[in-house]
Amino acid sequence: MRTRQDSLAWAAEGTSLVRKALAGLDAQAYEAPTPLPGWTRKHLVAHLAANAEALGNLVHWARTGERTPMYRSPEQRAADIESGATLSADRLASWFEESAQQLADAMGELTEQQWQAEVVTAQGRTVLASETPWIRSREVMVHAVDLGTAVTFADLPAPFLAALSADIRAKRGSDQVPAVQGDPAEVAAYLAGRPYTGVTTADGVPAEPLSAWL
Ligand code: ZN
Repeated sequence: MRTRQDSLAWAAEGTSLVRKALAGLDAQAYEAPTPLPGWTRKHLVAHLAANAEALGNLVHWARTGERTPMYRSPEQRAADIESGATLSADRLASWFEESAQQLADAMGELTEQQWQAEVVTAQGRTVLASETPWIRSREVMVHAVDLGTAVTFADLPAPFLAALSADIRAKRGSDQVPAVQGDPAEVAAYLAGRPYTGVTTADGVPAEPLSAWL
């Protein structure tokens, strides 16, 4: 089972992967599309920065007891990504760094009791605050791949891939997703609804693609 310390380390590692991916992009490359419908890399970076701030709201909630949701509404979330995507590449890279650092700092200040506080995610799930590092690690790890630079699922740590696959299976529900076999990184990509190779069902038939997750 993953621990909170695992997730905090994965969030930091994923942040580093995104940072490295962005470092290799010039301003024009930020305009390129991603596998996510309607999103350029600029939208994706804006989403990651806004997500850090949104999870920061949950950390604030856990620390103070003041109910501060991730986003005011789904419309506000989308509008902030759209307006964020109009920023320059430099501004977006800075926003990503600053928001990630602020979130890491805020998480670092939570007491053991505050980590056990209940908060509500953007999907309306009530979770313990100790789940927020895992939520953040999924975002930075999977979207580091979505940025479409050199990062692939095979670059993500094996224990993270195992935790990700288990989490997606639980969220998608077992009736929707068949049992599959293949390289663990490819299976995680398959479950996340990303491009994959060599994933087959138990009887050796190539697995049918799933819808994108996250
Ligand atoms: Zn996301």
